[in-house]
Amino acid sequence: MKTIGVLTSGGDAPGMNAAVRAVVRTGIYYGLKVMGIRKGYAGLLNGDMEEMTLRSVGDIIHRGGTILQTARSAEFNSEAGVKKAISIAKVFGLDALIVIGGDGSYRGARDLANQGFPVICIPGTIDNDIASTEYTIGFDTALNTVQDAIDKIRDTAYSHERCSVLEVMGRHAGYIALNVAISGGAEAVILPEKEFDIDRDIIKPIIEGRNRGKKHYLVIIAEGVGGAVEIAKYIEEKTDIKTRATILGHIQRGGSPTVYDRVMASRMGAYAVKLLKEGKINRVIALQKGVITDFDINEALQMKKTIDEEMVELNKILAL
Ligand code: ATP
Repeated sequence: MKTIGVLTSGGDAPGMNAAVRAVVRTGIYYGLKVMGIRKGYAGLLNGDMEEMTLRSVGDIIHRGGTILQTARSAEFNSEAGVKKAISIAKVFGLDALIVIGGDGSYRGARDLANQGFPVICIPGTIDNDIASTEYTIGFDTALNTVQDAIDKIRDTAYSHERCSVLEVMGRHAGYIALNVAISGGAEAVILPEKEFDIDRDIIKPIIEGRNRGKKHYLVIIAEGVGGAVEIAKYIEEKTDIKTRATILGHIQRGGSPTVYDRVMASRMGAYAVKLLKEGKINRVIALQKGVITDFDINEALQMKKTIDEEMVELNKILAL
């Protein structure tokens, strides 16, 4: 292994830069040449890459987004696209590729691996929806960004005795929603993983809360469920409590990464390079029970992730 490539793919996530930095610096430390590929698999197909130096990753550890930029490539999603990507990788002398991204990016990497091109994946997405790992780079920063917004909205909701309905990101998964429901003290949280009944799961806890003396209410809706505006209208009609919907949107994706995201990204980036140094290929990096580990990429993509029922119950108890 002499030359490795690194790219970021799918949605950007805070901490991706820290991971790129760790890959580049650990790679150079071990005597490897590291090529930075811009714009994900689209950039690989275009040969949009250059050699990274110790200095080219300076002053990026604190920055959100990704200096390598990211893209979604339809061309890469075909056998011909994958073969072309490998032929371009060979033109540049790449012996392996480190992919930082979400599960879509993992599937792209799996296609490369299954066509004989060595890959390592690092989990990078704010959604924390990758089955093989308990944690993905960017998740912690996104949670803190949402929490900051909840605290601000709560000030107004309390002052006006209102109900706030907040729609948060997470694509098809409810991990952001469930965690901020607990950290933000939500009366109700609606997750894509669990069927819901608006009267049972939202209206009833609000009315019961009012009867116990609550002055304001917070309802978290996961993006995968959606409909925050309609839900807010329904709450107001049924309860006569003034209700406002806020859809946080892309504010949740950017921002300076938290210490936790920076440290995990640094550790995972270095771990990825070490795997390649040891001759291990087609692995995905994961956090399991607090320990950084790795799995075969095909096995990882077979795994299923479920929502933590204890956390769902905990939120119900703490919302009393
Ligand atoms: P996030 O969850 O943060 O959006 P992601 O990695 O899941 O990140 P996607 O847009 O799903 O984001 O995937 C990024 C890229 O990976 C796609 O543009 C495509 O090139 C490749 N990709 C996605 N799905 C597949 C698939 N099923 N097979 C092969 N390649 C894929």
